[in-house]
Amino acid sequence: MNDMAKNLILWLVIAVVLMSLFQGFGSDDTKKAQIDYTTFNKEVSQGQIQQVQINGQEIKGLKSNQSTFVTYIPAPDLDLVNYLIKNNVKVEGTPPEETSFLASIFVSWFPMLLLIGVWIFFMRNMQGGGKGGAMSFGKSKAKLMSEDQIKTMFSDVAGCDEAKEDVVELVDYLKDSTKFQKLGGRIPTGVLLVGPPGTGKTLLAKAIAGEAKVPFFSISGSDFVEMFVGVGASRVRDMFEQAKKSAPCIIFIDEIDAVGRQRGAGMGGGNDEREQTLNQMLVEMDGFEGNEGIIVIAATNRPDVLDAALLRPGRFDRQVVVGLPDVRGREQILKVHMRKIPLDEDVKATVLARGTPGFSGADLANLVNEAALFAARGNKRTVSKEDFEQARDKILMGAERRSLVMTNKDKESTAYHEAGHAIVAKLVPQHHPIHKVTIIPRGRALGVTQFLPEGDQISQNKDELESSISVAYGGRIAEELIYGAQKVSTGASQDIKQASAIARAMVTEWGFSEKLGPILLTGEQGSLRSNVVSHETGKIIDDEVKAFIDTNYKRAYQLLTDNIDILHAMKEALMKYETIDSDQVDDLMARVTVRPPTDWDEELESAKSKTSEKSESVTPDAVNESQETEAVKESDEPEVNESSKDDVTADKNNDK
Ligand code: ADP
Ligand code: ZN
Repeated sequence: MNDMAKNLILWLVIAVVLMSLFQGFGSDDTKKAQIDYTTFNKEVSQGQIQQVQINGQEIKGLKSNQSTFVTYIPAPDLDLVNYLIKNNVKVEGTPPEETSFLASIFVSWFPMLLLIGVWIFFMRNMQGGGKGGAMSFGKSKAKLMSEDQIKTMFSDVAGCDEAKEDVVELVDYLKDSTKFQKLGGRIPTGVLLVGPPGTGKTLLAKAIAGEAKVPFFSISGSDFVEMFVGVGASRVRDMFEQAKKSAPCIIFIDEIDAVGRQRGAGMGGGNDEREQTLNQMLVEMDGFEGNEGIIVIAATNRPDVLDAALLRPGRFDRQVVVGLPDVRGREQILKVHMRKIPLDEDVKATVLARGTPGFSGADLANLVNEAALFAARGNKRTVSKEDFEQARDKILMGAERRSLVMTNKDKESTAYHEAGHAIVAKLVPQHHPIHKVTIIPRGRALGVTQFLPEGDQISQNKDELESSISVAYGGRIAEELIYGAQKVSTGASQDIKQASAIARAMVTEWGFSEKLGPILLTGEQGSLRSNVVSHETGKIIDDEVKAFIDTNYKRAYQLLTDNIDILHAMKEALMKYETIDSDQVDDLMARVTVRPPTDWDEELESAKSKTSEKSESVTPDAVNESQETEAVKESDEPEVNESSKDDVTADKNNDK
């Protein structure tokens, strides 16, 4: 933009100079009275002319009465000068005019110069190499934050202590680079932050800049990519040039895989533009000797696709992993974000952290924000535990769909289905404790059974996996026991998918099959490795998978048959309360009277249910999403496993 203005001013100056030059030719004979040659001759003979100046055919002069005049000689008159002298007129000549000579050259060349100028102008733009070109095509789009704009500090980044430790020395280096050089230490010029989205990579990079009080350039890898070859490269060049001006500083490149993919790999063969951009980046990173105080920090989720050249010493030779936070990390992140809002006393970050496995830092920030919004909607002054609960459910499963009117029949079958999951989960060994069971529709699910694992689940043993299979079938079996095999709904499709995926992975990936032993039998995307697996082995795999499923299906069937009274009781409780927590489930399992949930208001609810029953009876077409009843929510996964038939591969389950 600045260069644009400079250019404009330059052109204006040129225009003004030219105009004044052209004006100069006209000189100042405007005021002189023009007389004809005959009159002039007569006046000379009468002695009325005092002085003349002859310039070619033009004669300017002064009369005896001191008035000026101008006249033009019609034809060359060689006797004129003698004649004038004879009549006592003072005659002057003019020096041959140099200015007009130069000007005439200029005038004749002007169109040519103009053309050349325009041509250069366009050439520079086309190459995109124009530093200071009128259009900022090849300029980097990096956003600059100056040191006093950055408010982020290390204390704002929580739950990734290892990553922080890895980068603190960069702060020292940026603060005082000479100290390190004296000792001959080499500080990496490039640091690669590796981790899933939302784990705070940008935040961490910014915090380094904030702590070191240096400017922060940020750009996304995709900003370099342009249709025209060479643009990306020139943007890289431009960015490094800008950065050098404000060194020491940090350049942060988000999604570096957009430019840094392996060269020559991928579809459509080589991509000239991307390669040039990448090459330029390599050149720039080699270019500074570390003494210029620029640290390049790049972020990516996929270090495996990066070009090996980028990872070589002197470039991004240091990798810092910023992973998903564990329970303690989540607690700290929640605390960081909860600092900013007023909380009820009973809101405990520890408890929230336990209930949010798999959440990234960004998810947790979002959770706190949503909770504050719920509180604001309820006109509350502080944010309560219930607000957090609601926010979490919204993030995990989509907003409640209280408006979706379910017929009593659908509600009932959903209640049986969820109760089936819950009861089996209570009775099989080594399953996660239940957090709550609900038949309030959310997102695309009609009901959910949620579990709360005690710690972060890093790996699972065979017992746990088999239990998961049983629990997944619990919902469907409950429906079958109550309504008969003919009436089972399609709602269990997601459960089946999930159970099958677990069983298959147990056989082909985790080596839990006694017949096959611990051999990896899957390829890249979980597909069977056709080159490794023979036809016979394929058949054994199928048999083994089926065997796992059968045993666990039978176990769940047996458990539910033996405890069918609990199934009925839990259905009743769900129909009444819609959501029951672990306390109610415990009561049901102990076959004692169910205590009402803590937030239960008997009178209000009975009034509500009376009116709603009426409306339900007149809306037979209420269920629009078919008979889906939802899936078991395995809470070691952040995403919801709804029972919609088409989406989400159930390839869940940590394959550690
Ligand atoms: P990434 O760059 O890894 O995708 P960001 O740094 O953009 O993630 O994180 C987005 C937001 O999530 C941050 O602005 C911050 O509010 C929150 N956040 C993420 N990780 C953390 C963390 N470790 N500590 C505190 N807040 C975090
Ligand atoms: Zn289910």
